Amino acid sequence: MVMTARELDPRVQAFLADGPKRLLIDGAWVEAASGRTFATLDPATGERLAEVAEGDATDIDRAVKAARRAFDEGPWSTMTPAERSRLIWRLADLIEERSEVLAQLETLDNGKPLAVARRDDLGGTVDYFRYYAGWPTKVEGATVPVSVANTFAYTLRQPVGVCGQIIPWNYPLMMAAWKVAPALAAGCTIVLKPAEQTPLSALLLGELCLEAGIPAGVVNVVTGYGETAGAALAAHPAVDKIAFTGSTEVGRLILRAASQSNLKKVSLELGGKSPNIVFADADLSQAREGAAGGIFYNMGQDCTAGSRVFVEGSIYDDVAQFIADHAKGLTVGSGLDAATDIGPLVSQEQVDRVLGYMQLGPTEGARVLSGGGRAQGAGLDRGFFVQPTVLADARNDMRVAQEEIFGPVVTVIPFRDVEDVIRQGNDIAYGLGAGVWTRDLAKAHRVAAAIRAGTVWVNTYGPTDPALPFGGFKASGHGREMGFEAIHLYTEVKSVWVNLGEG
Ligand code: ADP
Ligand code: MG
Repeated sequence: MVMTARELDPRVQAFLADGPKRLLIDGAWVEAASGRTFATLDPATGERLAEVAEGDATDIDRAVKAARRAFDEGPWSTMTPAERSRLIWRLADLIEERSEVLAQLETLDNGKPLAVARRDDLGGTVDYFRYYAGWPTKVEGATVPVSVANTFAYTLRQPVGVCGQIIPWNYPLMMAAWKVAPALAAGCTIVLKPAEQTPLSALLLGELCLEAGIPAGVVNVVTGYGETAGAALAAHPAVDKIAFTGSTEVGRLILRAASQSNLKKVSLELGGKSPNIVFADADLSQAREGAAGGIFYNMGQDCTAGSRVFVEGSIYDDVAQFIADHAKGLTVGSGLDAATDIGPLVSQEQVDRVLGYMQLGPTEGARVLSGGGRAQGAGLDRGFFVQPTVLADARNDMRVAQEEIFGPVVTVIPFRDVEDVIRQGNDIAYGLGAGVWTRDLAKAHRVAAAIRAGTVWVNTYGPTDPALPFGGFKASGHGREMGFEAIHLYTEVKSVWVNLGEG
């Protein structure tokens, strides 16, 4: 049953009904200086969900100045670590309290199944803030035994400053959490720019930051387009660091903007085209499920999607057929429908892009084992629905195997042996994730070491944990989020020399 507008949580209805959404700058909700707004759509219906302030360079400048003041003058930077820790924990509690509202907003704005939004997006976000709530009191420097007489040397790890954080639309709240939580823990201030397709949950997050007692100006939220608001943030001379998750193409623009302005620090989490490798000696039922789940989760709109499934020759037909049958069994529908496995894609633009690859596959010689086009059916014609699609007999050099599709489209590629699959798996511009399915322990570790990717999952696919670093080799990015690595991203190390000599 699809939840109707009337069955939505009353707080969601109130949030959506409450006029055009405003920007959060310096603790106050303000209109864009231009007065302009833009619509955010429900991808299940194509209809307008809400009007949102269209922030641009002027608003980014106001927000950066607010974040600058909050950083340079306090009280955030003068607060004790324990106080900051308490505020981040309180924020996690408020997110948990409001998790049904946030999950419904996420499903409405992004399209993903509500059960997934509740469990993974909200569960993950709360865990993430709780994990980083513990960090402020643990950001240590070191005393260092330099080889200079009468000298005491130590390091301080200090907040990097004002952080611009530019967020994608595939996990709108969780991607904001991945960036906001460690930045707050490190003592930074923030200008958050959510994706124009999915701005709503970040606005509620901003509200909860205020409610938690995080001082004005510490977290600012500026909604708007990438080419205007996002670009202005990346180029702003008073921003000390940009953290970006999104397309490789925009990652390049951000690096260029940083290099042409103040050489701000940049961390990037970009695309992927991850190999998910099934050896003939794997637990086959587990491996086949893992291969299917690795691509269709979140409609394939996942930078670690296992979009290149490599299958050892002797079991190739069996595994390819299994994934195709699995795809055919998935229910496509509104994320508000409890029966839905595959929600809509986020936008018409994504539908066009993904359909383009579905059509390209067969012209390159791949065989369509399931799907291959728009999803048909009652209630699907207005929304952004496509069929989960399996392209079998693919070769690693095809464009459908080399380019990130960011949709529920998998290429299934045969391989001969360990050397062959390591070579093919690494023959790609990206290096974000990889899966290995085998019962042979030595083989698992050998492949895990040889694949050039930031995360390798052995006999599982896709989990992340706030304690374990996450990020990419090669064109998949710069830097690592999560764990202490993310504290690194939001701090500068200062070396202090003290002459202990007399006279
Ligand atoms: P997609 O093309 O899938 O929407 P993007 O990389 O364009 O992915 O978007 C990710 C985030 O980057 C969004 O918040 C978007 O607004 C922002 N963005 C897009 N273009 C730019 C840009 N030129 N400069 C800064 N941010 C941008
Ligand atoms: Mg874009």
